[in-house]
Amino acid sequence: MRYLAPVCFFIFAAILVAVPLTAGNEYELRLFMLFLIYGIIAVGLNVLVGLAGLVSLGQAGLFALGSYSGAILSTRLGFDIVGSCIGAAIISGLFGVLLAYPTVRVRGVYLAVVTIAFGIIVENVAIEWQSLTGGTTGLSSIPKPNILGIRLSGFAFYGVLAVTLFVFTLLIHNLKISRFGRTMLAVAQSETASRALGINSTGLRTLAFVISAVTAGIAGTFYSFLNSYISPDIFTFSDSVRFLLMVILGGAGSTFGPVIGAYLLTYLPEYLQQFQLWQKFAYGALLLVVMFALPRGIVGTLQWAFNRLRPPAPALAATEGLPVETTLRHEKKMLAAELVATALTVRFGGLSALSNASLRVKGGEIHALIGPNGAGKSTFVNTISGFYRPDEGRCELDGVELTGRRSLDIARLGLARTFQNTELFGEMSVLENVMAGYDQRLTYGLTQALLRTPKMRREERECRQTAIGLLAFVGLSQYANEEARFLPFGLQRRLEIARALAGRPRLLLLDEPAAGLTTQEIDDLEAMVRRIAALGVSILLIEHHVDLIMALADHVTVLDYGQVIASDNPTAIQDDPRVIEAYFGAPLDRAAAVGAGA
Ligand code: ADP
Ligand code: MG
Repeated sequence: MRYLAPVCFFIFAAILVAVPLTAGNEYELRLFMLFLIYGIIAVGLNVLVGLAGLVSLGQAGLFALGSYSGAILSTRLGFDIVGSCIGAAIISGLFGVLLAYPTVRVRGVYLAVVTIAFGIIVENVAIEWQSLTGGTTGLSSIPKPNILGIRLSGFAFYGVLAVTLFVFTLLIHNLKISRFGRTMLAVAQSETASRALGINSTGLRTLAFVISAVTAGIAGTFYSFLNSYISPDIFTFSDSVRFLLMVILGGAGSTFGPVIGAYLLTYLPEYLQQFQLWQKFAYGALLLVVMFALPRGIVGTLQWAFNRLRPPAPALAATEGLPVETTLRHEKKMLAAELVATALTVRFGGLSALSNASLRVKGGEIHALIGPNGAGKSTFVNTISGFYRPDEGRCELDGVELTGRRSLDIARLGLARTFQNTELFGEMSVLENVMAGYDQRLTYGLTQALLRTPKMRREERECRQTAIGLLAFVGLSQYANEEARFLPFGLQRRLEIARALAGRPRLLLLDEPAAGLTTQEIDDLEAMVRRIAALGVSILLIEHHVDLIMALADHVTVLDYGQVIASDNPTAIQDDPRVIEAYFGAPLDRAAAVGAGA
């Protein structure tokens, strides 16, 4: 498996070299060049669709923007092909940022509609802005491709296209196997969990849009040079659909799938021309059948079949990992953080989920937060970690104000959390889940990811070794390569703890980690929490299991109807009449009365 990607890239290069040598005539070569251009679009769009999990049906709009920009820059301003490409890439990249903006609010179908609207707007501007675009007649007499005044021959231009597609495919493959690909997949699966791990989801979505826009823009410029003529009817909605289909048919998220998809959808219409009137029908019917038979796309289905046929991957050797004692331990001065929450009030409509609640988790202690269902415990965790904004009150971590900060920034300050209803990246492997949690500790940037620099490789190795060590720590080594969603419930909870720890937090908030666990699993959890605390991590533990609290907690705070009714050592709490009345007295009745929320 290690050598699969290099071998594929070698074959790809060999094909690109061989085609012009074997092409029978200029028309054949031209058609192949058209495929190369579509390939560039599809490979870029794959970042958006396959990695970031977003749908764009406006890619023809970006392609048109690139085409017109390139054509105008070369005809009016005399730019050569490099200058036109750079200009077109900048212009379409800016529109990529613009298109990413709506994702702050809308996803899925709504986002698809926004991108369709974008495509229609571009098409209309191209028609109406006659002085610039030539209106419906379009722009003709685009110069032959040239670099620094030297005209490129047909073969030289082919070389430019082939090298561009090859390099883009390689760069995007590198992106996919870097922190950027990993976190884009993570954001697509659970934005909530991503934010809790300090992952910048908005930034990643914008990056995905910009990459897909820039590649479409460059492809558009190449198209202008290849065609020497462009007009608005070349960039219609059905072209957007075709670009999206290239990615999905080939296999979204795979490295070569979009290239194969682009190839098929370039050649298929040519081949189907013999059916004349039935061409469109045959095209649609064929797509329908293929997508029905291969829902993962061609490459995706091949990979899936291959994974099923080969023997299961051997469990990772725990020796590949580094012990948590070295990867998670803090310097003396950075030891366990202190959390101070002062008079927090959180209202939902008329209901006060928290009223005037204050709590202090001292550095290095295990602090239990208990209370009947609906008392406001999860609300407290959500407020501290920046998911809810308090209506009143404030909280600080080691004197640093948390109120008003984004959850991802709070995570980066050293606060990690788990969720009452586990929030894993279900379709990623167990190991990748933990590696995503490590992301905030990685420092390499986009360029280093694209080029796979030594720094990137070193940091990725550390990330992997730390993750493997963490899996050993929570007893999941043997599941490292499984998809997270297939883990039994109890193990999913452990994975979530391992992932939260990967960022090396100084305070860990655990929201009912023992809920749904067996007695044996609860004993394991108890040992695990002790070891985590021994690494120098303060812990806020929300729990219902009295035995676990008595065994672990240094201090217990009791919430009832959003108010702190007691805060003391475990023994004192157990004897406190108010607590007995509110909590130990008749928990079942109370839970029912409160509505057993969240
Ligand atoms: P606990 O975790 O102690 O069981 P929660 O903090 O989940 O309690 O809930 C406290 C109260 O706040 C409940 O009545 C719950 O229905 C309400 N609540 C929690 N989150 C929300 C929300 N996002 N919107 C509206 N009401 C909420
Ligand atoms: Mg809760």
